[in-house]
Amino acid sequence: MTLLLDIGDLSERQTDRALNTIYKAIHSHDDDSSIWREHESPFVRRLVELFTQRGLMRLDGFRKELEQWLAGERHTGAPRVRRPPGAMERWTHGELSLVRLYLETLPPAEFTLDDWMMVVDYLAQRYLPATDLRSEAEWFAVRSVYMGRVQASMESLSAKQADKVLDALPSTLEAAAERFTMTSTQRVMIEYARTRCAENVTRLADNTRHRMREVIAYHTEQEFLGVPGARHSLQTTLVDEFGTLNRDWRRIAVTEAGENANQGYISSMAPGTKVRRVEMYEDACGWCRKIDGKVMEIVSADAPDKDGDTQIWPGKTNIGRSSAPRKRVGSILVHREPEEMWWIAAGTQHPHCRGRWVPVIQDLPGDDPEFGDWLRATLGGNDASD
Ligand SMILES: [Zn+2]
Repeated sequence: MTLLLDIGDLSERQTDRALNTIYKAIHSHDDDSSIWREHESPFVRRLVELFTQRGLMRLDGFRKELEQWLAGERHTGAPRVRRPPGAMERWTHGELSLVRLYLETLPPAEFTLDDWMMVVDYLAQRYLPATDLRSEAEWFAVRSVYMGRVQASMESLSAKQADKVLDALPSTLEAAAERFTMTSTQRVMIEYARTRCAENVTRLADNTRHRMREVIAYHTEQEFLGVPGARHSLQTTLVDEFGTLNRDWRRIAVTEAGENANQGYISSMAPGTKVRRVEMYEDACGWCRKIDGKVMEIVSADAPDKDGDTQIWPGKTNIGRSSAPRKRVGSILVHREPEEMWWIAAGTQHPHCRGRWVPVIQDLPGDDPEFGDWLRATLGGNDASD
C-alpha cells in the first residue's frame, strides 16, 4: 500500500525538517521491545545494564514517591510548618528538608497547585540532582571509552571479566589521567563523552520535571473541577510517562556506550589498521545493514585529504549530516550532495545504533603495553574461559 503525503504547501525549511524527522524515525530502531535487548558487544554489555539500572532506580524512586504524595500517604500529621518562600532555584540540603517538612505537614486536602508543583520540584531535586547526574555521566563516559581501549587489547571479554575491569577502572577523567598514559586524542574522546553524556542525562532530568509539572497540573485541575475518573486517568498517564522516561534513559545508555567504546577503540588503534564494521543484529536499519562487513582504514583525525568512504578517524560522526536523500530547493526536491549525507561514522551511526568494529586480522596491534599490563593484572591469572 502506498501512502502519499502532500508537502507541497510547506516551506523549504519545513519540508527539510519533516523529511529529516521521517528518516530519523526509520533509523531509530528503538521500539518497545528491542531497546531492552542486551547489547551485542561483550565490551559494553555489562556497562549498559549497570548504567540502565542506576537510572531506572532514580526514575522509579521518583515515581513511587510521587504516587505516595498523590495518595496522601506522606502526610505525617505533625504540626504545620510554614511554606518556604521563593520559587525553585536549586535548594540546598537544608532548604530541601524544609520543603519536605512543609509538604509532609500540609493536610492532603489543602494542597494547592503551587504545592503540587513544589512536590514535583522536590522529587526532581531528590532523585535527579544535577551534580549527581553529572558524576554519573562521568562514571559512565570514562568507563565506556575505556571499554573501547580494552577491546583494543583483547579479543573478547566474559561477563565476569567485564565486571572486574569495570570495578577497577577510575571513575573520573582526572583519576584516569593519573592512572594511565593518555594520548591527547584519547583525552579529547573522554572529555567529549563526559560532556555529551552529562548533557543527555541532565536534559532527561529537566524533561522529567517539566513533564511531571504539566501532567500533575492538568490532572489536579481536573480533580479540583470534580471531573469523574481524574485520579484513575492520572495513574494511567504516569505509567505511560515513566515508561517513556525509562526508555529515554535506556537509549542514552545504549547510544553513549556504543559511541564511546567505538571511539575509544578507534582512538587506541594505530593509524593504518584495518577494521571491519559489524552491524548484524535484530532490527538493524537499512543503512546499518548496508555497511555491515565494510572494511575501513583507521587514519588520524588530523591527516590531510581523508577519504570518508574508506577511512575512519576518531571523532568522525554523522552529526550535522542527514539520512534523507533529498532536500527542498524552491518548489522541488533535489538530491543532497554527498557531503551532506550520512557517512560511516567511527562511533554509532545514529541514536540507538548498536554497530561496532572488529579487527580484520586478530593480532591486535592496538593499545599501549602499559594498559595491556594493567588489564592482565586486573583480570588476574587464567580465567579467560569463565
Ligand atoms: Zn541503523
